[in-house]
Amino acid sequence: MTTVHGSCLCESVKFSVTTDALKLYQCHCSVCRKVSGSASGTAFFARKASFAWLGGQEQVKVFRRESGYSVHFCSTCGSPLPHDFMGEYVWVPAGLLDANVEGNIAMHLHLDSKAQWETAPVGGLHYPGSPALDELLRMVV
Ligand SMILES: [Zn+2]
Ligand SMILES: [Zn+2]
Repeated sequence: MTTVHGSCLCESVKFSVTTDALKLYQCHCSVCRKVSGSASGTAFFARKASFAWLGGQEQVKVFRRESGYSVHFCSTCGSPLPHDFMGEYVWVPAGLLDANVEGNIAMHLHLDSKAQWETAPVGGLHYPGSPALDELLRMVV
C-alpha cells in the first residue's frame, strides 16, 4: 500500500489516497466529455477510509443537473474534484494525482457514444454503455 497525493490545478484543494494499484475506468460519454473538456473522463473509486482531504475543502463548488448528476469542482481553477459516492466510496478523477501511480484502465464505458475523433481504446473491458453498478464496483474498487 502506498499513499498518493492529489490536487487541483491551483493546488488549493489537496487530498491523499492509500492504494496498492489503481483500477481505473474511462468513460467516453458526452457528459464526461463536457466535464473533462476532452475525449473522456478517467477516474477510480477509493474506499472512504483510504481517502483523506488535506486542505481546501472550502473551495469546492457543486453543480447539479436536474437528473441529480453532480460535478464538484474547484471554485478557483475549475478542476473537477473528488466527491462522495454512495456513502461508502469516494469518486476520484485520476488526472488529479500528483505522482505517476501504477495502475491500468480496467473498463471503458459508453463507447457507443464516444467522440468520432477519438481513437478507439485498446485494452480493458469495453462496454457500449454502462455496466451494472455492482459490476463496475467489482472491477474498479
Ligand atoms: Zn483549484
Ligand atoms: Zn461518462
